[in-house]
Amino acid sequence: MKMTQVSYKLNQVQHYYGDKKVLDIDRLQIQKGSITGLTGPNGSGKSTLLKIMAFAQKPSAGEVWFNGRLEVPLSPRVRSRVTLLTQKPYLLKRSVFDNIAYGLKIRRDRDNLENRIKAALENVGLNYDGFAHRQWHELSGGEAQRVAMAARLILKPEVLLLDEPVASVDTKSAGQIRRASLAARRDWGCTLMIASHDLPWLYECSDTQISIANGRLFSTGRENIIPPPYDLSQKNGPVKWLGTEGKAEHIELPLKKKTDGFAVIQKEKIRICLEKEKGNWDNQITCEITAMLIEKNSGHIMVTVHARDFSLNISFSPGQAAGLKLLPGKRLILMFHTQDIEWR
Ligand code: ADP
Repeated sequence: MKMTQVSYKLNQVQHYYGDKKVLDIDRLQIQKGSITGLTGPNGSGKSTLLKIMAFAQKPSAGEVWFNGRLEVPLSPRVRSRVTLLTQKPYLLKRSVFDNIAYGLKIRRDRDNLENRIKAALENVGLNYDGFAHRQWHELSGGEAQRVAMAARLILKPEVLLLDEPVASVDTKSAGQIRRASLAARRDWGCTLMIASHDLPWLYECSDTQISIANGRLFSTGRENIIPPPYDLSQKNGPVKWLGTEGKAEHIELPLKKKTDGFAVIQKEKIRICLEKEKGNWDNQITCEITAMLIEKNSGHIMVTVHARDFSLNISFSPGQAAGLKLLPGKRLILMFHTQDIEWR
């Protein structure tokens, strides 16, 4: 029997900046060699989570297990195995060559240095003769990001955490960074966690997608957040207005016990049709398909539908998608019961 090995286990991890809670994760498990896509609006906690997983930051509370051991920042076991690439690359004030050689030299691993650096640069689409001897300030943003990537990949990390790696680089650099990330998994089984707004990339390459909102994790395509604001003033229960209050369609929400939290609906609880139906559905919402992306690994189709500020990602099997003749721009009706919405 093939055993899947666990790379990370996070238990009850919380993080505060001052008295503001920015991360609250009950459980998160990451398999070795997997690619996890992490999406969420700015400020939702993606960078904080990646810093904690990179052991660059200690969470305010909770446990981070890595390779079956409870680990903390600065542990020598994790330092050489886990690496984080941030959106704004940090380069040493040295040449490109020295930046890439730095980690190897610390490991006293100087064999065949020039050839390895050449290969590392080529791996991110940079030519050795043109770049090795440039100084850190003689690079465009995209080139600097590629050098930072090469400096990490030459160390063959077990885990590569990428925080918006292609958000502020040119198209060519973005392509090279995407390609080199996948090659790391292919060549040495590197575990990848990628926070990005580039949804087509994430859906294409990741095995699992998770989304984060206000520091809490949700499973993309399976759990959908009905976003705030919620109107708690209606006498029949809370309501999410889609459009002008009192006039347009709305979602009837269950009674709310906590003061914070999100209304969440599981994909399986939503019936998707082409026309409204008679029957006792609490909610029948008219939406339009705005995007369709193929999840490469599962072959499923991730469909994004919008109704005003309400947007859902729903994963369909190819057969379901063909049966409903799904296409961007198509109108769909989502039907679900209020009792199936949870407050989380
Ligand atoms: P994301 O990467 O999704 O944009 P972050 O993890 O950077 O989210 O931020 C989560 C929340 O924590 C935000 O509200 C942000 O303003 C806050 N935050 C991030 N870093 C700090 C810090 N060093 N000090 C105080 N607040 C911070």
